[in-house]
Amino acid sequence: MADAGRRARPAGPALMLKPGRERSLKRRHPWIFSGAVAAVEGAPATGDTVDVLAADGEFLARAAFSPSSQIRARVWTFAAAESVDAAFFERRVQRAVAARTGLRDDRHTGCRLIHGESDGLPGVIADRYGETIVLQLSSAGAEHWRDALVDALAALPRVACVYERSDADVRQIEGLAARTGVARGVLPERVVLVEDGLAYCVDVVNGQKTGFYLDQRDSRAIVHSLAAQREVLNVFCYTGGFTLAALAGNAARVVSIDSSGEALSLARENLARNPTLPQDRAEWRDADAFAELRRLRDAGAAFDLVVLDPPKFAPTAQHAERAARAYKDINLWGLKLLRPGGLLATFSCSGGVDAGLFRKIVAGAAQDAGADAAVIGRFGPCADHPVALAFPEGDYLKGLLIRKRE
Ligand code: SAH
Repeated sequence: MADAGRRARPAGPALMLKPGRERSLKRRHPWIFSGAVAAVEGAPATGDTVDVLAADGEFLARAAFSPSSQIRARVWTFAAAESVDAAFFERRVQRAVAARTGLRDDRHTGCRLIHGESDGLPGVIADRYGETIVLQLSSAGAEHWRDALVDALAALPRVACVYERSDADVRQIEGLAARTGVARGVLPERVVLVEDGLAYCVDVVNGQKTGFYLDQRDSRAIVHSLAAQREVLNVFCYTGGFTLAALAGNAARVVSIDSSGEALSLARENLARNPTLPQDRAEWRDADAFAELRRLRDAGAAFDLVVLDPPKFAPTAQHAERAARAYKDINLWGLKLLRPGGLLATFSCSGGVDAGLFRKIVAGAAQDAGADAAVIGRFGPCADHPVALAFPEGDYLKGLLIRKRE
């Protein structure tokens, strides 16, 4: 069996694993860590495709080699008969897009088309904002196949521009320099996204990540449904996603905080772009959230609905402890600012903090705030952000809806 596997594979560079280290690949986990590799056969360059073989020579996967990363290779395919070439990427892109057609909803013109590992394309993110696609490549293999990926995306129907935002910090770990700019077509002067009937301007050139947090679409819809007559505090508001959703849900008032002046000015513009929303019910604070929450408390402010959607405090598990303190702090102040009977929508997008740990942190915050509180709902990413069951690392976004008892 092992011999047959060995003969079947085409000659070329390969990674031989240590005995026993084939197990995670057999469960279809797409990462091969450096510590699992016994030997590198041939002389693969960064991003080259290698066969991954068990210690007994059995073919396990075909993967992208990344010599400078602890994640030494990322799997493209588990099928021995499948070649990794431009046609492969065209098929994978089309498969990802097809998987979302059943999810299409005319109330939204934004969609994550490719969600990395969970779409069988490690290191590849593609977000569609109307006719503009923003592509983010963050692994050596994705970088290697850049042209094929751009071609496949540009060939999709109704695409006027593919814009590249390959500037995530993780590229450094893979030994890649940042690259941004138009990859295909012409970038419109204004990229506008419509979500649940609300128009948002997306700054694909300078905005965070690809420009907009599409993953929070369902959470924004829930906040919309809870906001009526409530005084809302939206902390870490970025370009106003939850703010506009709350105003559309007839909130009495929305105070929004962010420390990015650029994000806030786009947030204001986004509100103005939707003239049917009650413009005079929004207040914006350009401030550090940790300080502003204390200031609000000192000033005797109170709210009926608090949204806490901070940046990724813990990119990996190593940062979990420091991140836990930051999460606890903001949740403590968020709960203190909540009136009895009020609601807290609290999120973590840190891969290094899992749902169980997050719940414990929020429970600790409630205890320190002297708040009697209960979880009444849970939030997660919307359906165009799949999490492959074999890839639990993809499960980064979690949220709790909490009610502070009277
Ligand atoms: N809720 C937003 C996304 C939030 S992203 C949405 O639905 O679109 C996190 C935001 O936190 C960013 O806009 C960033 O500028 C802001 N931020 C980061 N650190 C901050 C701090 N210490 N105080 C206030 N805002 C901060």
